[in-house]
Parts: sequence; C-alpha cells; structure tokens
Amino acid sequence: MKPSHRISTLTGGGSDGWDVFYRARAMIAAGTPVTELTIGEHDIRTHPTILDAMHRSALSGHTGYAMVPGTQHLRDTVAARIAQRTGVPTTAANIMITPGGQSALFAAHHATCDDGDIACYIDPYYATYPGTIRAVGAVPKAIVTTPDTAFQPTEKALENCAGARSLLINTPNNPTGVVYSGQTLKHIAQATRDHDLWLISDEVYDTQIWEGTHLSPRALPGMADRVLVVGSMSKSHAMTGSRVGWVCGPAPIIEHMITLATHTTYGVPGYIQDAAVFALTARPELEAEVAAPFKRRRAIAMDLLGQQTIIKAIPNGGAMYLMLDIRATGLSGETFANALLETHHIATMPGESFGTAAAGHIRVAMTIDDTAFKAALRRLLTFAQTLAS
Ligand code: PMP
Repeated sequence: MKPSHRISTLTGGGSDGWDVFYRARAMIAAGTPVTELTIGEHDIRTHPTILDAMHRSALSGHTGYAMVPGTQHLRDTVAARIAQRTGVPTTAANIMITPGGQSALFAAHHATCDDGDIACYIDPYYATYPGTIRAVGAVPKAIVTTPDTAFQPTEKALENCAGARSLLINTPNNPTGVVYSGQTLKHIAQATRDHDLWLISDEVYDTQIWEGTHLSPRALPGMADRVLVVGSMSKSHAMTGSRVGWVCGPAPIIEHMITLATHTTYGVPGYIQDAAVFALTARPELEAEVAAPFKRRRAIAMDLLGQQTIIKAIPNGGAMYLMLDIRATGLSGETFANALLETHHIATMPGESFGTAAAGHIRVAMTIDDTAFKAALRRLLTFAQTLAS
C-alpha cells in the first residue's frame, strides 16, 4: 500500500545535512568518546521543584483528559506573561496550550495556509520549518539572508514574500543565536502589511537574551491581528521532554486551532500544565537560572574568539548557539565539521544543515559543561588556525 504523497515528501528529499551528527552518534555507539556540540538541549534537567509540582498534580487526580485548549489557569498565566512582555492586552481567548512549540508551529501553519499556498521562512532556519510547512500542504519558500547582516532579513530580501500567505521568523534565532533588531522587525512588520501575510513568530528562546532586548512583533503597532506567537517551556525551563508550549494570536483563529487540536493532539496532560503554571508563577527566578550556563559559556567563547582572527563569530545576542564563520580555512562547513570530528572527535553542525545561507559556517551548541566547552572550543580554534596556515 502506498503512503500519501504529502507524508512521503515531507522532508523534501536529498541530503538533510545531518550526516556529521549521525556519524558522531555512530562513533559514540562504537565506543569512541565524542564531544557533542550539536543538539539544542540543556545539560541540566527539569528543576526538581517543577517535577514535585507535576507529581503532586498527578497524585491529586489531574490525569484525565484536560481541556483541549489548555487549562484555564495555564492559559491565564501565559496570557498575563505575554501581556506583560508586549504591553498588548492578552487573555486566555488568545492562547492555546500545545504539546511544545513544534505542535504550535504546525497548528499555526495549518490555520493560515491552504493547499498550495506559499509559506515563507528565513534561511538559515530551524530544521523542521520546511517540513512543517509541507505537512500542511503549503509550499515552503526560503527568504535567504547573508552573514554580513548577521543573517537578519533585509527590506530587499523581504520583497520576496510577495504572493505568499505567511512568513515564519525566529528570534532569538536557532541556528544563529542572533536577536533581531528593532529595525529588522520594523521591516518584517512592513513586509507582512504590504503583502498581507500572517506573521508566525517563533519565540521559544525569548528568555535567553545576552545582549539587546527581545522584541515580539506582537508588540508592534497594528500587528497583533496578524501575528501568531509560538512559545514553549522547553528552552526556558529545561522542560523539553514535557512537551508544553503555546500559540498566541487573535481569538477567532485560536478558536480554529482548538478545533484542529480536538482532531489531532486532544490537548496536553493536566499534570504537565499544572507544573508549567507552578514554574511560571511560583518560581519565576528559574528562567534566569536555566539561561545562566549559556550566558557563561558565551562569555568563555567571546574571550577565546577574541584571541584569534581566523574564525569570526556571528554576533549572538541570545539562545544556546554560536554560529562561526570558518570560511578563512578554505573549507565548507560540512568539510570542516567532518574533519573536526575525524581529527579531534568534536561534533558540530555544518551551517549547510540549516539551508543555503549559512554555508561556510558551523553551529556550536553551548550545551556541555563550562570546562569541557572551553577545552573543545580551544581545540576547534587551534584546528582552524592549522588549516588556515
Ligand atoms: N523552534 C525552534 C527555533 C527550536 O529550536 C525548537 C526546538 N529545538 C522548537 C521550535 C521546538 O521546540 P519544542 O517543541 O520543544 O517547544
């Protein structure tokens, strides 16, 4: 029996650029120690107080079907958080709780794009973006950026959104760590108005800001009616495995997404939602605690990078990644990453894994302990130095 065309073409085919990652995993399985700077997941686990809250909730009986849109308490809590951060009046009617940001990205595209519609996204991009767009029957279109603007889309590049139905942005950004400037967001807002687009704003790294400020396009004048914000507890609270996030937008489209959830996810477990409420209300200091290791490692990286001239870093104002320009070595990101794995048993992600724009770069996830991180980065920089000379 044949699977659907939609499901069998979801990834778009071709090499997915994850070969280095799989090679590293194969080396580890064969007993070779590899320093992995690949995956965007914390090296700490969910805080025990959050797990206690989860446990208490489950024991008290919150294990049945929860409300499909999310519990009133969590929707109210997320709405208050967004209202406070954006200054835009936001209520539970603007919020649907989802099993993680990924599910929110799917729901947002499903709710905004019809079959064959063009849905834009910014290259370099988070791995699932084009597949998520294909999964709803829309056609992904990359808006390509360049390293000289720190991979922020320019006014000119955004002209390529003409004729599309939606634009997906992500700030702070994975894979680049870049925090979009006020100017960039102004251009984005203008482009979405000029071309009458939905703007889907992936803000799952909004608590990890090292420089500058996080600006949500929901906060820009006249934008709240066309913006769908995607949020998540995964990165902010090291709750990747709990699968809890949200989508925030105009109430009528949230209603449609709730209908979609009724026919797909059927909501998020109540005890997970209660734990999320606890994390957001009783322990607000946890966000900074979870972000702190990345801030420290970024400082370590800036210090080491400042001592050499071969590798340039894309200015990363946030998130858990460093995007390094390795073009001075004369290698592609992929060749460099493969050689680094082979020679020093350090695994990084080639820029080519994230589209075409970040070719000649590698992404380093700052997700191992400080000492090991510093040692690995030192070896990486020395390796680049050797190649360049
Ligand atoms: N968006 C971006 C940019 C991400 O990096 C990730 C996870 N790596 C997600 C969305 C999805 O996260 P989750 O589903 O765990 O909330």
